[in-house]
Amino acid sequence: MNVIMLGAPGSGKGTQAERITEKYNIPHISTGDIFRENIKNGTELGKQAKAYMDKGELVPDEFVCDLVLDRIHQADCANGYVLDGFPRTLPQADIFDKALKDAGEKIDVAIFMNLSNEYLVQRMEGRRVCPKCGAGYHTTNMPPKVQGICDECGSELIQRKDDNIETFKNRLEVYDKETAPLVPHYEAQGIVVTIDGKKGLEPCWQDIVTALTKFE
Ligand code: AMP
Repeated sequence: MNVIMLGAPGSGKGTQAERITEKYNIPHISTGDIFRENIKNGTELGKQAKAYMDKGELVPDEFVCDLVLDRIHQADCANGYVLDGFPRTLPQADIFDKALKDAGEKIDVAIFMNLSNEYLVQRMEGRRVCPKCGAGYHTTNMPPKVQGICDECGSELIQRKDDNIETFKNRLEVYDKETAPLVPHYEAQGIVVTIDGKKGLEPCWQDIVTALTKFE
């Protein structure tokens, strides 16, 4: 099962992608996580990506597409994958569509987490992440068992550097301009399932499970 998660920053797509990974045993591929890992490890890619990420801007398409195409053809993706944060622009989607077609592959479903910008700003303020293992939390919607501490590995939780109000607003603007057009792009392929993000974590998850049942 090949899945794409669509939705603005803070719409819950990373959290839901993680659940899909657990339920279906297919890897969660987050391009944002790949870049953050590269920044942490001080790689050349990380150095290039950091300048864009810190401002809430997109990393240029040429840094992203080959990286994802390599990743989805690794052995652990044999039964499928969940892409989170890619494609992010229409040119990325066009390159990706063509590469899949050439390889005789396809995306089965694009899950669109639909949420208004006002809601997204509120949500962003409570987002926390573990800098060590990458687990995500929310101070009110999904708090850790002990405040400020990762349930998985015991590290102190942080706010992502690009989760400050100014950078976040820029990320939303970039989303509206560059990424939102992917929804009609994949609707034209008949593969979009729209999830009402306001419903909250559990009801959204139930809607996603229902939508994915037919691909099991
Ligand atoms: P995310 O964790 O998906 O919110 O991504 C964090 C940041 O990584 C974004 O604001 C971009 O700077 C960069 N990024 C992640 N995925 C992509 C992509 N597909 N294309 C361009 N930039 C990306």
